[in-house]
Amino acid sequence: MPSYTPPLRDMQFVLHELLQVDKEFAQLPPHAELDADTVNQVLEEGGKFAAGVVFPLNRSGDREGCHFDAATHTVTAPAGFKDAYRQYVDAGWPALACDPGFGGQGLPLTLNNAFYEMLNAANQAWTMYPGLSHGAYECLHAHGTPQQKSLYLPKLVSGEWTGTMCLTEPHCGTDLGMLKTKAAPQADGSYKLSGSKIFISAGEHDLSANIVHLVLARLPDAPPGTKGISLFVVPKFLLDASGAPGERNPIWCSAIEHKMGIHGNATCQISLDEATGWLVGEAHRGLNAMFVMMNAARLGVGMQSLGLTEVAYQNAVAYARDRVQGRSLTGPKAKDKPADPIIVHPDVRRMLLTARAFAEGGRAFCSYIALQLDRELNHPDESVRKDAADEVALLTPIVKAFLTDNAWIACSEALQVYGGHGYIAEWGMEQYVRDARINMIYEGTNTIQSLDLLGRKVLMDNGAKLRKFGDKVKSFVEQHGTDDKMAEFITPLAELGEKVGKLSMEIGMKAFMNRDEVGGAAVPYLRVVGHLVYAYFFARMAKIALDKEKSGDDFYKAKLATARFYFARLLPETAMLIRQARSGVQSLMAMDESLF
Ligand SMILES: Cc1cc2nc3c(=O)[nH]c(=O)nc-3n(C[C@H](O)[C@H](O)[C@H](O)COP(=O)(O)OP(=O)(O)OC[C@H]3O[C@@H](n4cnc5c(N)ncnc54)[C@H](O)[C@@H]3O)c2cc1C
Repeated sequence: MPSYTPPLRDMQFVLHELLQVDKEFAQLPPHAELDADTVNQVLEEGGKFAAGVVFPLNRSGDREGCHFDAATHTVTAPAGFKDAYRQYVDAGWPALACDPGFGGQGLPLTLNNAFYEMLNAANQAWTMYPGLSHGAYECLHAHGTPQQKSLYLPKLVSGEWTGTMCLTEPHCGTDLGMLKTKAAPQADGSYKLSGSKIFISAGEHDLSANIVHLVLARLPDAPPGTKGISLFVVPKFLLDASGAPGERNPIWCSAIEHKMGIHGNATCQISLDEATGWLVGEAHRGLNAMFVMMNAARLGVGMQSLGLTEVAYQNAVAYARDRVQGRSLTGPKAKDKPADPIIVHPDVRRMLLTARAFAEGGRAFCSYIALQLDRELNHPDESVRKDAADEVALLTPIVKAFLTDNAWIACSEALQVYGGHGYIAEWGMEQYVRDARINMIYEGTNTIQSLDLLGRKVLMDNGAKLRKFGDKVKSFVEQHGTDDKMAEFITPLAELGEKVGKLSMEIGMKAFMNRDEVGGAAVPYLRVVGHLVYAYFFARMAKIALDKEKSGDDFYKAKLATARFYFARLLPETAMLIRQARSGVQSLMAMDESLF
């Protein structure tokens, strides 16, 4: 049976020592009064909820899955999910980072993000129900009319209602320009929506009294492609005069998918049968409005993967301490036992440290982005807000793709630590591997994220956003370049920074001649930049740990050891990735289609 302990000490290290959030919050008027004790208390309580209420439902939810009743179009979530959701609502958790104007507690996203890491580690499938609601909240908050906001936001904030995002259709997932769902204008200003959506997470369930669907559809006069897509809010139950759920709106769940992982989350086929909806934001600009939700969701998917990485790591360590097999190559270590615990073997340590480094690097990176989001939203200085927004735009595809690829590796390595037992369901590791796999696919596949990074975020703006991030790296390198103790971190970081700059220019030049070069280089390119980001944070964490070396606190010893492992064993992957990215598109395109 797996177990989970919220990694509060490491979260506190990241928030207080690495990012010094109290100083940052002091500059943001809505959070200026927030102190470290309150941050720690929220994390502690959040950890108790995640580990105590949600985690025990992870395996049972996976085994039981969701139940669909075709006669009533209803879905019942696995046993215990509804009760855990009620406890979540009663405790006020959905309101944590929401606008106080709509009943929220107004705490920073940085804190909400840390809470979500723990929820996801405890139970990704369950966490998707409230997670999508938060995305719907953000979208309506940014683009809804005052009336839409007053009708829907208080209920999403309290958690009484949940939300969805309905983009995908059977014939289009990545290429939403082909979307067919239609919206016909009505005399009263509403619209009748007709069409079919697939793969809609939390599209139907029994956790909440109403479901607020955000649906992409086309108006009759819509231009073709992505420029003709509009966004609509379509509640499961239409609201009566008092704003309470009334008449059933014909937006039905017609089936649920049977899938590899996240069994506890209902993945629904949805039919819209002249369902009533209302336009959100401007006509034909729906994709722009939806991007608010998609960006929040992309960071959310990164958090899903971080949570899985952490929980898989924790369990693999416990197993490696306990399982005895073989003797250490340097002589017996547990002489009282018939064999040594497998944690003595170098390659078992490699697997554990890989997962650990991906968890620690990912936590630093995700917390940093969440902090940039808070600055983008609330810093009084416009230029700071703009810089933060640029950084979030650059780093969001990396959070989504790099963390999810790494979680897949980490969960697989953690399973491997268990040998054959990892493959057996009762140990719980195979669930983590299955659950981790979807994160690389939804919210835009990782290929699409890498095209977004290289094509749009780097090349289309002539590398300006990347240079801004590079300047942060350079300034850290200059600040610590003469510190001998830091040389083992600073030298490879500085080298990689230079290589990323050159690589970006080289691909940009090639892309002038052949746009396919972007597609050929994008995936390894994103991984290289992901490593630059991790190397930067590991170097910063190593600096703090070195400064605290004499404190005798093992936490800093472990931090330093993980950073050294990262630089020695994971970062060198960039040499291969750079060669791949530079190798050009020729080897990919040379083979005639008919020869595949
Ligand atoms: C469990 C689950 C939950 C989901 N939840 C939701 C949800 O809540 N709401 C929602 O709207 N959708 C949801 N989705 C849909 C998900 O976002 C899509 O599956 C995903 O975006 C990919 O679309 P697709 O499946 O149509 O694949 P395709 O778009 O058909 O892609 C197939 C392959 O081709 C590649 N590809 C496609 N176009 C390009 C290109 N231009 N360049 C290079 N490679 C390309 C892709 O990377 C992929 O590898 C969910 C899916 C699953 C499985």
